[in-house]
Amino acid sequence: MGKDKDVDGGEARDLGMGMPIQRRDFLQGTAIALMVTGCKGELTAEQATALAAQDQPGYYPPALTGMRGSHPGSFEDAHAVRDGENLTASPTDTGEAYDLVVVGGGISGLSAAHFYCAALGNNVRILVLDNHDDFGGHAKRNEFTLNGRMHLLNGGTMSIESPVPYSAVADGLMKTLGIHPEELAKACDEPNFFEEAGLGSAIFFDKATFGTDKLVKRPGASEDAVSNRQATAAFLAQTPLSKPVQEAILSFETGSVDYMAGKSSDQKKDALSRISYKDYLTNVAKLNPGVVPYYQRRTDGLWGCGIDAVSALDCWGSGLPGFEGLKLAPGSTPRMGYTPRGYAATGGSYYFHFPDGNASIARSLVRDLVPTAMPGSGVGSIVASRADYSKLDRPNQPVRIRLSSIVIRVANKGPAGRDGVQVLYRRGGKTFAVRARHCVLASWNMMIPYLCPELPADQKEALHYLVKTPLVYTSVALRNWQAFKKLGISGAHCPGGYHSEFRLNQPQHFGRYSSHGSPDEPILVHMTRTPAQPGLPEREQHKAGRMELLTTPFETFERNIRAQLAAALGEGGFDPVRDITAITVNRWPHGYAPENNSLIDPDEGLPLKKARARFGAITIANSDSGGGAYTDVAIDQAHRAVSELLT
Ligand SMILES: Cc1cc2nc3c(=O)[nH]c(=O)nc-3n(C[C@H](O)[C@H](O)[C@H](O)COP(=O)(O)OP(=O)(O)OC[C@H]3O[C@@H](n4cnc5c(N)ncnc54)[C@H](O)[C@@H]3O)c2cc1C
Repeated sequence: MGKDKDVDGGEARDLGMGMPIQRRDFLQGTAIALMVTGCKGELTAEQATALAAQDQPGYYPPALTGMRGSHPGSFEDAHAVRDGENLTASPTDTGEAYDLVVVGGGISGLSAAHFYCAALGNNVRILVLDNHDDFGGHAKRNEFTLNGRMHLLNGGTMSIESPVPYSAVADGLMKTLGIHPEELAKACDEPNFFEEAGLGSAIFFDKATFGTDKLVKRPGASEDAVSNRQATAAFLAQTPLSKPVQEAILSFETGSVDYMAGKSSDQKKDALSRISYKDYLTNVAKLNPGVVPYYQRRTDGLWGCGIDAVSALDCWGSGLPGFEGLKLAPGSTPRMGYTPRGYAATGGSYYFHFPDGNASIARSLVRDLVPTAMPGSGVGSIVASRADYSKLDRPNQPVRIRLSSIVIRVANKGPAGRDGVQVLYRRGGKTFAVRARHCVLASWNMMIPYLCPELPADQKEALHYLVKTPLVYTSVALRNWQAFKKLGISGAHCPGGYHSEFRLNQPQHFGRYSSHGSPDEPILVHMTRTPAQPGLPEREQHKAGRMELLTTPFETFERNIRAQLAAALGEGGFDPVRDITAITVNRWPHGYAPENNSLIDPDEGLPLKKARARFGAITIANSDSGGGAYTDVAIDQAHRAVSELLT
């Protein structure tokens, strides 16, 4: 085993980069192309379909490791179209005609297919096209077999939560699928497993940001103010932060100063909506600027960027510290984004997640649309059921789901689409054409101006405004979790880390699925990375982060993952060479739907209505069109898009 170069350029040490973990991302990206181009002569559409990877025995993308999410092979044609390449010439006509073509096989697209069938009956014919090798969009399943037992994690969309209660439509669809989150939460979740095992959370201070690598366990929350202050002081004393910074954090977090004295709650909220949390810390609370690196990435998980680009009001809404003394009235304001505390007055939604996150919602939708593709019945069997991908796209079935098929053009036929639509998609390096009466674009909205160049200019401008948030959910398989046990932690926030957070996978029983194990047994670790570029406005940070994600090879992720876990868990005996057995990097250059940010968006909010306006026989869904990165938004928008087609 050779020595690896450390990420921060420090002392070289052995990270295990040469270890034989699975890395099939390159093969995955080229598999389909090889199968198609390996044949002599032109392919008929029939042949192309027959050769499709998803029809091959053993095709099972949830178990693939390496670079997943927007995996190689899934987006290149879209970028070529964006860059002006003409891929639409001489398409092969598949001869297929549908009532509805849905672009995008995420929760919104699958819901649109469901609502269309529900409205028109099961005799309609629907084709769902998705550019990925798996269905579900962000609701992606990562499946590992560790010591003969199935272990699951979400590769994206995790929980059935929302700051706002699910609408009757979204709630109704869940119930139709047999998903009753409150009952499931009672029956399946074991939220205290790690707590009962004596494990808490920690902060990992890295050498590059804080001068030394140090993991410090966080104190548990206490109701009593005095013990809380003592515990926080004891925690801070162990950190590598300077004394003045420790004191600033202590008084900010445990004090009750009104930094905006003299203003009403409404006036304070309005002022907070116009400044970042970073400004609140340094200019309003006038804290030592040395506190900024400590708080910088507290907003990463929800916003995909740091505290310099998120309003102080939304940080109050998300529960960040330092607002106690302001005595703000609960409830949202029009200048506020989706934050849990902002919606406290309206109730919020239940919290529950399947072991594979909302992939089990996507899988339930697939079972509803193509029952033969998802064996079993009832929600109890959905998690452990093995999808049969070869059944997704069979001729003569009402709904077909065609993967690895990226749509590059959707055109109305006849005035206002009276003669339906033509949809062109690319698969295996070739362009195919299908016809339909209707089309729902449940795909990423900023691509729509390229799919439909005839759209009115102001609609295209509105669509371009909707910039998605890039982020990465990484799943790492470990041989055991002894190091976590020894350190007494189940995860850590890493303010300067390549990934800003890592945590052990929550053990769950669900039907035949059980990921339980002792510290000697394998486990999965979830890690979150947001490639934000502090200092720029939020959307500019996202564009820069997207470029970074698309140009970062898997090896760079792997090296950073190994180095970060080694540095954070080393004192517990963690050895990346011995302990890491597999890595899946779910890269989402186009992740969360754009949400209103009062620091940069106009008072009237995002131009959603203009962006999602019906265009002939084409309507627009996806969570993007609702301006909220939540599953209920994806479902509600699907329902609206289908309703628009049918009225
Ligand atoms: C990492 C991550 C974590 C999340 N966690 C949560 C959570 O815990 N709870 C929650 O409620 N929400 C969460 N979300 C938000 C999530 O986006 C929504 O909940 C929901 O899954 C979005 O569904 P969708 O169908 O609207 O979009 P998507 O899931 O993005 O599906 C759209 C699909 O269309 C495809 N597509 C795009 N363009 C084309 C084209 N030209 N041709 C063919 N196909 C195309 C895309 O590749 C994708 O597969 C998370 C998102 C991310 C990225």
